[in-house]
Amino acid sequence: MLILLQDLTGLLFPELCCACSTLLHHGEGDICTSCIHNLPYTDHHIYKDNKVARKLWGRIPFHQAMALLHFRKGNSVQNLIHHLKYKGKKGLGVKLGTILAGQLISNPHYQGIDLIIPIPLHKKKEQERGYNQSMCIADGLSAALNIPVAKGCLIRKVATSSQTRKSRYKRYENMKEVFGISDPAILAGKHVLLVDDVITTGATIEACAMELYRHGIGKLSIATIAFAD
Ligand SMILES: [Zn+2]
Repeated sequence: MLILLQDLTGLLFPELCCACSTLLHHGEGDICTSCIHNLPYTDHHIYKDNKVARKLWGRIPFHQAMALLHFRKGNSVQNLIHHLKYKGKKGLGVKLGTILAGQLISNPHYQGIDLIIPIPLHKKKEQERGYNQSMCIADGLSAALNIPVAKGCLIRKVATSSQTRKSRYKRYENMKEVFGISDPAILAGKHVLLVDDVITTGATIEACAMELYRHGIGKLSIATIAFAD
């Protein structure tokens, strides 16, 4: 009876792939099997020298940095990120986190991580959206890697305006003092994996990293779902 009801719901409200919009089959959630295999993966996790690392070199010290996918205007990854941020697809975030975990779990570059920390949204923005998409990604990573998420440790104190039209210095100035730490005791000497949905300029990651170092973390690695190059 339950299956019948699910089939009926499926007929009335067909579930579509968040990347390519084709009809999903039974057992496929949010992304179709074909997209999972054919998404534009960066393979950053294999190389210490990659485009995300180059973006951050000289700005903050870090152990490793990577993005899972290439984000380009109009590509399937842009669709994924749109669903993740604006269409309430929390499960998609968890799924992307699980796929990301698959690249990290037996990767020699990403061993010894103590804590996962998602980039926080401002409280008001999180209330409007109903969730923080980076937290969903962190939850997927945490379950697959068996590493805890430090929930509520890194906080966004100031709601920032759009960054895209500002110069790099202005963006940096704009980001100083934006983040804070609620629970510094848990950070001392830890290897933290900082997690975000998309890295564009790197200004947000840079500001969060500075705040984490100021509170005594030992090592920082960075992983995002998408890289906008
Ligand atoms: Zn698809």
